[in-house]
Amino acid sequence: MKRTRGASGCGDPHNRLADVTIFNSSSRILRILQRIDRYPAQRHRHLSSNESLDPEDWETFRADAHTMLDDMIGYLQHLRDQPLWKPMPVGFRERFDAPLPATPSDLASVHRRFMDEILPYGGGNPHPGFMGWVQGGGTPVGMIAEMLAAGLNANLGGRDHAPIEVERQILRWVRDLVGFPETAQGIFVTGTSIANFIGVLVARTHALGATARRTGVLAGSITAYTSAASHESVTRAMEMSGIGSDALRVIPIDDSGRMQLPALVASIAADRAAGRVPFLIAASAGTVDIGAIDDLSGLADIAEREQTWLHVDGAYGALGMLAPDVAPLLHGIGRADSIAFDFHKWGQVPYDAGFIMVRDGSIQRDTFASSPAYLTHDTRGMAAGDWWPCDYGPDLSRSFRALKTWFTFMVYGSDALGATISRMCALARELARMVEANAELELLAPVQLNIVCFRYRSDDPNPLNIRIVADLQEGGVVAPSLTRVRGEVAIRAAIVNHRTELRDLQSLIRNTLALGRAAEHGESA
Ligand SMILES: *Cc1c(COP(=O)(O)O)cnc(C)c1O
Repeated sequence: MKRTRGASGCGDPHNRLADVTIFNSSSRILRILQRIDRYPAQRHRHLSSNESLDPEDWETFRADAHTMLDDMIGYLQHLRDQPLWKPMPVGFRERFDAPLPATPSDLASVHRRFMDEILPYGGGNPHPGFMGWVQGGGTPVGMIAEMLAAGLNANLGGRDHAPIEVERQILRWVRDLVGFPETAQGIFVTGTSIANFIGVLVARTHALGATARRTGVLAGSITAYTSAASHESVTRAMEMSGIGSDALRVIPIDDSGRMQLPALVASIAADRAAGRVPFLIAASAGTVDIGAIDDLSGLADIAEREQTWLHVDGAYGALGMLAPDVAPLLHGIGRADSIAFDFHKWGQVPYDAGFIMVRDGSIQRDTFASSPAYLTHDTRGMAAGDWWPCDYGPDLSRSFRALKTWFTFMVYGSDALGATISRMCALARELARMVEANAELELLAPVQLNIVCFRYRSDDPNPLNIRIVADLQEGGVVAPSLTRVRGEVAIRAAIVNHRTELRDLQSLIRNTLALGRAAEHGESA
């Protein structure tokens, strides 16, 4: 009995069993713990004063914190009245080149610096006029949930606590949304880049078994396939996995930006003939340049026939399943083996909140799970819980991304989130109509989802449109970005932010025309 305190060796099943018999009544546990608690008080007086990092004066902290909250709510409430983006003044960056502060500062003064030096120079994505890259706008609800999560400071690697159940709840929701079976597993990750990486690793396990974790992969032995329009993170995933991007076949796209299936079939056949093993098809559900969705059903048929893994990069597109008019475009997504997507894009959850979901979760587990003593899954106490996210991905310490996502679904409801996605696609169609209605503008790609690629017509359009986009971004009202469509520079408006309205699109057209005319005819913009 003397050795009750800390006697249970970590991961030592014999001691654990002994403790179970000792602690078989809770009043007895309490008595023992109380005796232990009295023990150190006298001898270590110099260690027992309050030297924690908590506030000395909680009331001052409370007042400061309320000010910070109010300021941030005010910022979100008045986003439209502020510049979308502005470049940092010359010399400004040097403020962030100070030595490590050894001495304390007031919370309020540090907050003042945030308000003056950081907040005005943000990336612009919360602003209604932001349509540059595929980035979500975030919501006030997500912001507040993130604060709650930080207060709780949960570590979602594993063990037995309610935050883990929240993450599982989200998994069940998205599993049902895309039509995956109950065998499916999935976890939050930073973003689709890492989710694509995990997809490649799980596909490798599917092809070669978990032994590939130890042996690695022989260069050139297994091959993957993706379209010319897929996201760069697919290439990186191949690089990071050690399989190598030389083993990634880039399949040409058709006029609407979708992978050409006959070319895929031919490429697979050529690799088989050369003795290689095709192990993965990485499809896109919403390409980043023009919003194309690969023929997921057709790809599922090919993957089935060829016994290859079908991974879908649905970074923003997959959540289109929430929108009744977008979901049919994603037909076949439920037949994928794994899906990578982000809640921080169309889901409007604040950064970051990516997700990887795998149809047969046991293969995901086989790819990552291991059992060092300090990660022993117990049957009782804090190390219990039968589902530990650290078994399904590379991260051990993990933040509570699920909470801001749970709050977003709970507070807004999936119907409203789906309606937002529908509205973004309708706005994109309207923007395309405005472009087509104007002889000075030219639509460069069909609008299939939420992305519109166009340009100001000119004899030398590429440099002109590059200049227009830079001028628009520095104007701070409406911000598209650049991409290339069939080698031609395009102004790309990706409508991902729930705050974007028709007037922002009108402003985009108006300002593009003014800048284009000024450059072409010397009219003043
Ligand atoms: C944004 C995006 C990615 C990368 O996702 P992150 O969350 O930024 O890592 C991958 N694929 C597509 C199609 C994307 O739009």
